[in-house]
Amino acid sequence: MFNSTLIEVAEKTLANNGFRISYEDGCGLAALPEEETTALILCADKIRRKYKGDRITTCSITNAKSGLCTEDCAFCAQSAHHETGIEPHPLMSEEEMVNDALKLHASGANEFSMVTSGFALTDQELETIGRAAGMIKEKTGLKLCSSLGVLTEARAKQLKNSGISRYHHNLETARSFFDHVCTTHDYEDDVQTVKIAKAAGLKACSGGILGLGESWEQRVELAITLRDLDVDSIPVNFLNPIPGTRMGARPLLSPMEALKCIALFRFINPKKDIMICGGREVTLRDLQSWIFTAGANGLLIGNYLTTAGRDIKADMDMIRDLRLVAEKGA
Ligand code: SF4
Repeated sequence: MFNSTLIEVAEKTLANNGFRISYEDGCGLAALPEEETTALILCADKIRRKYKGDRITTCSITNAKSGLCTEDCAFCAQSAHHETGIEPHPLMSEEEMVNDALKLHASGANEFSMVTSGFALTDQELETIGRAAGMIKEKTGLKLCSSLGVLTEARAKQLKNSGISRYHHNLETARSFFDHVCTTHDYEDDVQTVKIAKAAGLKACSGGILGLGESWEQRVELAITLRDLDVDSIPVNFLNPIPGTRMGARPLLSPMEALKCIALFRFINPKKDIMICGGREVTLRDLQSWIFTAGANGLLIGNYLTTAGRDIKADMDMIRDLRLVAEKGA
C-alpha cells in the first residue's frame, strides 16, 4: 500500500481547504525511499488534475541579448567569468524580436518571453523592449513575458504599460545554497525583484535550477520560499552542465530524481503553474512525457538561451498523445 504520510498529505492537499504542507513534511516526502517515487508521482498527478485540469502552458523565449554578463552564476554560459565559446550579441532590434515571436506563436506557443543577459538593462534597451512588446501585442495573441535582470518600481510599471503581463526572475536555488552558485549579488536582490514585479501588477514567474549540488532539504526550502512569495508560475530547470562554467563537470540528475523534484514542487505549490524548462531533454530523455504525471502543467518549447531544444512538433504531439490540451494565446 502507499506510504501513510504520503496519503495523508495528498488527501489534505486535495481537500482544498487552505492546507499548506510544512517544511518538515516536505522533507519527509523528499526522504521517501526510491520505491515510493512512483506513488509520489501518481499523487502529484491527482493534485495537478484537481487544480490545473488538462490545460498545458507552452512558454517560449528569445535570447534578446546574450553573453558578457558581469554576474558569476556558476551554471551560466553567458557569464563573462566563464569561457564557454558562446557568441555574445547586443540587444536585438524590435523587428528581430517580433519575428521570433511570430515564428514561435505559429508553432504553438501561448506565451513568449524576451530574455536578456546582465544584471540590468540600460534605459534605452528597456525602451526597445517596450516597443517590441507593443508590436508583438498588435500582431499576435501571445501572452508576453520578459526576463531582464533586477527591477525597480518605475521599470516594472513601464514594462506593464508596454503590454508585458508576466515578469520572470529566478531565485535559482535555496537561500542557504546561494553562495555556492553566485557571489556577485545577493539573494535578496532577486527576492526584491520578484516582490517589485508583483507590486506593479505583473505576474511573477520565478523558479530555479535543480542539480547544482543542493540537498533535498534545500529543494524543499526553495519551493517553500517561492510559495511564501506567492509567485504565479514556477519554471523548473535541471542543470545541463556547460563546459567552461564552474558547474561544467557536474553530473546530470537521474530521470526519476528529476520527476520526484517536480512532484515535490507540485505538493508544495498545488495551485501554481509549474513549467519544465532547461535541461528537460538531456535529463529526462525517454521519460519526458512523465513531467505532467509528475505534476507539471507547462513546458518551455523551442530553443533555450544558449542550447537547442527539441523539435516543437514532438512536444505538441506529446501533449495531444497524453490527451492534454495546449493553452491558446491571450
Ligand atoms: S544567470 Fe543571468 S545574471 Fe547570472 S550570469 Fe547568467 S545571465 Fe548573468
